[in-house]
Amino acid sequence: MNITAEISRLIENKSNLYKQLSDQVWEYAETRFEEFQSAELLCDSLEQEGFSVERGVVGLETGFIGSYGSGGPVVAILGEFDALAGLSQKAGFKEYNPVDLNGNGHGCGHNLLGVGALAAAIAIKDYLKENQLQGTVKYFGCPAEESGYGKSFMARDGLFKDIDFALSWHPSTANAVMNAYSNAVIHATFQFKGRSAHAAASPHLGRSALDSVELMNVGVNYMREHMEDEARIHYAVTNSGGFAPNVVQAEAEVTYLIRAPKPHQVKNLYERVVDCAKGAALMSQTSMEVQIEGSCHNLISNSTLEKIMHQHLDDLGFPEVTIEEVEFAKEMYNSLTDIEKKSAELSVGKEIGQRLKEKPIVDFILPYSEKPVFMGGSTDVADVSWNVPTAQCTTATWAFGTPFHTWQVVAQGKESYAHKAMLLAGKALASTAITAIGNPSIIEKAKAELQERLDGETYEALIPKELQPPKNKRQEAVY
Ligand SMILES: [Zn+2]
Repeated sequence: MNITAEISRLIENKSNLYKQLSDQVWEYAETRFEEFQSAELLCDSLEQEGFSVERGVVGLETGFIGSYGSGGPVVAILGEFDALAGLSQKAGFKEYNPVDLNGNGHGCGHNLLGVGALAAAIAIKDYLKENQLQGTVKYFGCPAEESGYGKSFMARDGLFKDIDFALSWHPSTANAVMNAYSNAVIHATFQFKGRSAHAAASPHLGRSALDSVELMNVGVNYMREHMEDEARIHYAVTNSGGFAPNVVQAEAEVTYLIRAPKPHQVKNLYERVVDCAKGAALMSQTSMEVQIEGSCHNLISNSTLEKIMHQHLDDLGFPEVTIEEVEFAKEMYNSLTDIEKKSAELSVGKEIGQRLKEKPIVDFILPYSEKPVFMGGSTDVADVSWNVPTAQCTTATWAFGTPFHTWQVVAQGKESYAHKAMLLAGKALASTAITAIGNPSIIEKAKAELQERLDGETYEALIPKELQPPKNKRQEAVY
């Protein structure tokens, strides 16, 4: 029996368990660094399958590693399980209908991501065991993908040192192997302190921290003309100093995401943004403190592993969908705005786009793109990809056109077609891992490709050495 058929059988044997686990993580909907129940559920499942589990790794309270096997090769399967704030939505509803108006929701499908990856890890374990093969599988429970940079902390502290290659996936609207590169990012928060005073009676005694924030932002906005084309800088004012205009604002805070294609470029831009903050403080006679909250590198893809993953994904194909599934996917598609529908059509071309309007579940595998696609955003998978060869795929867990981080993603999080796509991803990952474990030359080639792409650079974490992950702290996501 070939590898994909064998892996399919192993995953289908436990498919009910995976569907239940994914639905349960969807129900918990815990945001970054607070995924206590979700992490525990996944840890328990790994232990029941014979994995040894290490909880709370590198100071991440909800980070863990489940290991099975002995000796090399060692494969890391990366799983995420954090939800997003403010995206509560009832499952299976075709209209916006939150469970709790201010609640959280799995708006990026990480309930599926974490459990699809778990299915892969367990199938690799079952395959190694049944076939008495040498090798180790490690499931990395990676918290806080949404602007928490869980994997960057893991990479900074050397958790990928003994890994040979890493695999992951992401829920999406299409079945494809990702050949993408992303921006590196530094997330930093600037706090200004001034002096309060009556803004009309004694304005000369006040020094406004809000002025500093405004001046800093003006300075940074002037920088934009003089940055790399693909660089991006965006900010949010997280403390404007209060609600009273007649009180000079003694405190104010602004948080920045600074992105550029390479770590050295992002470091340089960060220093220039800090200079703008210093200049603003000088102009307004306030004091300034800056804190790096997190960061990640740019993603390095690995065509050696990607091509193998694509072959497996092609062999597996997308499962049959039912009339009921297509009907619900249609409701989801119809809930999109005209601009969203147009943008979806543009992404696949007119002909396929027209066809998908009638049957908005992408039930085919997209060809492998030899040319890497640029993602303006960032991902903490990048820090793993600087350390070990890393490959990822997406599967069609959501109706054609569904945008990420929306109520529609949450509404589809427990659908049967989402489950099917999740299991497909698990199968693609596990088959790729087994193929590579059985062929050391593939791993050597993947490693050589990584070295070539690094072109002499080595991984140096952008997260400062002293920065610790937050402890059980509720924060608004700033994705
Ligand atoms: Zn995501």
